Amino acid sequence: MHLNGKIILITGGTRGIGKSIALKLAEAGGQIAFTYFRSRSAEVEELEQKLRSFGVKSKGFHLDVSDFATTTQIVDSIIETFGGLDVLINNAGITRDNLLLRMTETDWDTVLNVNLKSIFNTVKATTKTFLKQRSGSIINISSVVGIHGNAGQANYAAAKAGIIGLTKSLALELGSRNIRANAIAPGFIQTAMTEHLTESQIEIYKSKIPLNRLGLPEEVANCALFLASDASSYLTGQIIQVDGGMFT
Ligand code: NAP
Repeated sequence: MHLNGKIILITGGTRGIGKSIALKLAEAGGQIAFTYFRSRSAEVEELEQKLRSFGVKSKGFHLDVSDFATTTQIVDSIIETFGGLDVLINNAGITRDNLLLRMTETDWDTVLNVNLKSIFNTVKATTKTFLKQRSGSIINISSVVGIHGNAGQANYAAAKAGIIGLTKSLALELGSRNIRANAIAPGFIQTAMTEHLTESQIEIYKSKIPLNRLGLPEEVANCALFLASDASSYLTGQIIQVDGGMFT
């Protein structure tokens, strides 16, 4: 699954699943533009260096993905800097967990804007390029909670479910131009997003996972590599669960 210099944009690339995807795809020969939001410039430079050590072009761009106008601007400058775009990976995401009765309007709006509206923003900014070249692969990071729901995560589950509807609609609208849209729905993956879980919560989750462990960011990255590469050329509109069999 060599990427042969494909130009890839990953939102939220400096840590967790996004960082793993960036490293995996650079190792496979992809040129990597990634965005960051709160990460420090030292982390950004370190990642740029690591990615370049695979012999590919790489650059980080500061971006709040929930902002439509800035996203358009930054995506335009990425396309100009790299000379095009082949793959868009919408990975940036946040949680603001609470039971619905205690959830504030801000918690709701922020999670919907960063997780879901952001994909509208990036897709609007990239589609013209994909349409012109009559090819493109859009990979959206959803979650198993977008399929099954989760108490305490109504905002996050709604956003992740919205990503699924959006992905399937994009597949229908853009398929005739050879633009594919797929989503990955990870289960519980070991990143900053899940590090607040207590030992006993982890044990409860593990008992529900046939593979009996949390997943690694690299295991989500392997799926992203498949969807970014031509090995998945006849695959669109699909939601691939990377969850250790948690929901079969
Ligand atoms: P993470 O370690 O918390 O990383 C989140 C990423 O999103 C960071 O790179 C962060 O950038 C970026 N980000 C946050 N707010 C942003 C904004 N407003 N604009 C641009 N970027 C922003 O989380 P993760 O676990 O790797 O999660 C990555 C994706 O996988 C998310 O969409 C998440 O919902 C999904 N997911 C995770 C799990 C899991 O178990 N971990 C399960 C299912 C789905 P900065 O650090 O620079 O701010």
